[in-house]
Amino acid sequence: MVRRSEYLFLEDESEERFRHILENHLEEARQRAFSLIREARRDDRGCLLTDTIKPRKVRFNGHQWEAYRFIHCVLNEVIASRDHVIRHRCHNRRCINPEHLQVGSQADNKRDDWENWAYGVDPDYL
Ligand SMILES: [Zn+2]
Repeated sequence: MVRRSEYLFLEDESEERFRHILENHLEEARQRAFSLIREARRDDRGCLLTDTIKPRKVRFNGHQWEAYRFIHCVLNEVIASRDHVIRHRCHNRRCINPEHLQVGSQADNKRDDWENWAYGVDPDYL
């Protein structure tokens, strides 16, 4: 059983690990991000899709990350906290095109879903 304090510790540790990557393994991480992008298939909307059903994971420096989160954070050199989600402006969670990704709050993400439902596409994206 995981106590809440341990759970919070693990969450903090994940951010710490990412900070460690940016500070010590940035070039290697960038190469990894670019190779994921190269392996992806481009569709007619410009999305770069991985050949997985769920969002692809990537293992780096002994830890597993969602590929789109890894790519966004490494290429922009930002550490997204748990309060922040990586938003897909194209609304395709399998897409790893860095130009389609942006960081936002959970509330932004909900609004995205609503706009997608209401208008079919993010108006900023057109
Ligand atoms: Zn996309």
